[in-house]
Amino acid sequence: MTSLRVDHVSKRFEGVTAVDNVSFEMGDHEVVALVGPSGCGKSTLLRILAGLQPTETGTVELGGQVVDDGHRPVPPEGRRVGLVFQEHALFPHLSVADNIGFGVRDGDRNSRVGYMLELVGLGGYDGRYPHELSGGERQRVALARALAPRPALLLLDEPFASLDPNLRSRVRDDVVAILRSTLTPAILVTHDQKEALAVGDRVAVMQAGRIIQIDTPERVFHAPINCFVAAFMGEANFLPWGVAAAEIFGIGDPPTPTAIAMVRPDDITFSVEADGAASVDVAEFRGSTWCYTLRLPSGGTVRSLQPHLERIAVGSRVTPAMRVGHVPVVVAED
Ligand code: ADP
Ligand code: MG
Repeated sequence: MTSLRVDHVSKRFEGVTAVDNVSFEMGDHEVVALVGPSGCGKSTLLRILAGLQPTETGTVELGGQVVDDGHRPVPPEGRRVGLVFQEHALFPHLSVADNIGFGVRDGDRNSRVGYMLELVGLGGYDGRYPHELSGGERQRVALARALAPRPALLLLDEPFASLDPNLRSRVRDDVVAILRSTLTPAILVTHDQKEALAVGDRVAVMQAGRIIQIDTPERVFHAPINCFVAAFMGEANFLPWGVAAAEIFGIGDPPTPTAIAMVRPDDITFSVEADGAASVDVAEFRGSTWCYTLRLPSGGTVRSLQPHLERIAVGSRVTPAMRVGHVPVVVAED
């Protein structure tokens, strides 16, 4: 079963194509992490799915029902789509219980509110008001409110952006656990690639209005379709394959004469050798690792991540190599 089908959806604002011919489908219980640079169209796409903005072309189908074909969009309240935004947007004059119960039918309300409060770890908070909650608690209430009416799809637009880093990962883990336990399909917008890789069943990478790759986290990271995706999802070294093959041991022959090799810094290692052809240019301490920038004989550089115990002096002569079992990836230019 598909929970969502988006087919050739586009939206323009004066002079800007915010969403450009986007098509994808989501499975029943799937969590898709949507990433991309600021202004690439993530929020506009979510607003179209929620019914806050009509599409100009194509169709949006939720649970097998067309909710927008560019003519008569079903309004947000007719869509069973839950929304959670960065600025938790709770009703300030309503208690936690009333916030959560807002979209729930009368008969069901009390039991549903109690259940949701327990689910988000806020049992006993029913009578509090939003200003009496911490940022993380408010975000949990926002989630509970979005989930209470049993949405068929939950849309989360950078919901953790306003939380400080420690709290952020805790609230995020809780939210994802709740999505999993309630089997709620969700799209989570984030500008944090690590978050996207950690929480998405699939990761959708958006650039200039288009979804340019939607795939498993492993493939988006290790088999990016172009240099943009490779660089956006994490640190990457790019070298003409011929250069890489000549200067990094174990890289193998180029698959095509003009291929670009992408190698993650964790996949490059090196040995210190008095007659090594490369040298350590920069050593950057990162806590759990050292990141070494190696100057290659051609003049190019590559970065290599090493365990934090292996401290190697700047200027050391080294011979770079691929880590055993790792291979570089051919990437297309953007
Ligand atoms: P993101 O959420 O990825 O940062 P948005 O979807 O908010 O991106 O915006 C995509 C593009 O559409 C941007 O160039 C933005 O300026 C433009 N845009 C978004 N909403 C409007 C609007 N209501 N009127 C005009 N331009 C808009
Ligand atoms: Mg946005």
